[in-house]
Amino acid sequence: MTPETILIIMIAIITLDFIIERVLSFLNSKNRKKDIPKELEGIYEEEKYRKSQRYQDELERFGQVTSTFSFVLIIVVLSTGAFGILDDWLRQYALYDPIRTLMFFGALFILSDVINIPFQIYSTFVIEEKYEFNKTSPKTFILDKIKGYLLTVFIGGILLSALIFLVMQFGSGFWIYFWVLIGAFMLFMNMFYASLILPLFNKLVPLEDGSLRQAIQEYASKVNFPLTNIFVIDGSKRSAKANAFFSGLGKKKKIVLYDTLIENHSQEELVAVLAHEAGHFKKKHIIYSMVFGILQTGFMLYILSLMINSSEVSWALGGQTTALHLNMLAFGILYSPVSTLLGIFGNLYSRKNEYEADEYAVKTYGGEPLKTALKKLTSDNLSNLLPHPWFVFVHYSHPTLLQRIRAMDAIN
Ligand SMILES: [Zn+2]
Repeated sequence: MTPETILIIMIAIITLDFIIERVLSFLNSKNRKKDIPKELEGIYEEEKYRKSQRYQDELERFGQVTSTFSFVLIIVVLSTGAFGILDDWLRQYALYDPIRTLMFFGALFILSDVINIPFQIYSTFVIEEKYEFNKTSPKTFILDKIKGYLLTVFIGGILLSALIFLVMQFGSGFWIYFWVLIGAFMLFMNMFYASLILPLFNKLVPLEDGSLRQAIQEYASKVNFPLTNIFVIDGSKRSAKANAFFSGLGKKKKIVLYDTLIENHSQEELVAVLAHEAGHFKKKHIIYSMVFGILQTGFMLYILSLMINSSEVSWALGGQTTALHLNMLAFGILYSPVSTLLGIFGNLYSRKNEYEADEYAVKTYGGEPLKTALKKLTSDNLSNLLPHPWFVFVHYSHPTLLQRIRAMDAIN
């Protein structure tokens, strides 16, 4: 295939993706104006419902601006061969290929982050602020940035160096060795994320003594989930939005409740949310998701190995010679339809897991408190009550509130 053909394919992929996203987003905004089905009546007071509509409209417009901006930018960059120009420019500082690869990705990371900062500031300090969600102080925002950079440089630097080394050693056979390494890394992160990474950004404390702990105690011992693995996180440091999640494997398993969740929900509702999270653990969702993730990564690395040394792919990005980083970047674009498809399957699977966790909570604790908790979360977070089914199919990792309520009502 000629470099020109490869370039045209890349531009076609990006354009098609942009069009599909715009159509989905348009359908989603149309669907919001429909009448509310009877199961969802009364979740919002009239005034708050209008507020949620305004909030969703504003998010939609913001998404339009950011995605159009990135679309135009990447098309300009690709058609001017700017990646090749950057590669050529870095050559004067690093003749040695592996160093240039590290510098190339470092430069791209800095550039894309600098471009993104104004959008992040607007989203946090203008939109979220306006709807009273934002609790992030400028100091937290800046510290988050710095910590994020350090983590990226440290973890990204190590993984990228390992990849470069393996490609130099084994050529296109690198993928199997790198797969083993990255698989081990994913396993490690899955186990230690909540104890190593999360504390860098948030305070994580064991659920303290008191009436809530007692209420949870009874349920936790019934389903045999150790209370010592239940933690509270200071989500209120950044946002008023509430959440809860399950993380980790084996002894490292943790159920994490946001302080914002505890603040706004009754004890019964909190136990129901906890029961849902315990359902994810009992049904082994974390383990299966991780196995899928590792298999997908292996597939991706194998496809990458097919074009890792191709000169045409480098030339398509405007490169003068074959460069590992140009090929990796081009691969990222060429592979994106596959990762979109895999993402849709992943969401399908994730939604199935959510139904199962809900069912577990209904059977071991009760449906009503979980339903009221989910309704309250929807209204407090000004969530979209009526997303378009296609938008849900592609993007939602959780079923909609209506789908969850109907599924719970059907359990008996
Ligand atoms: Zn869940």
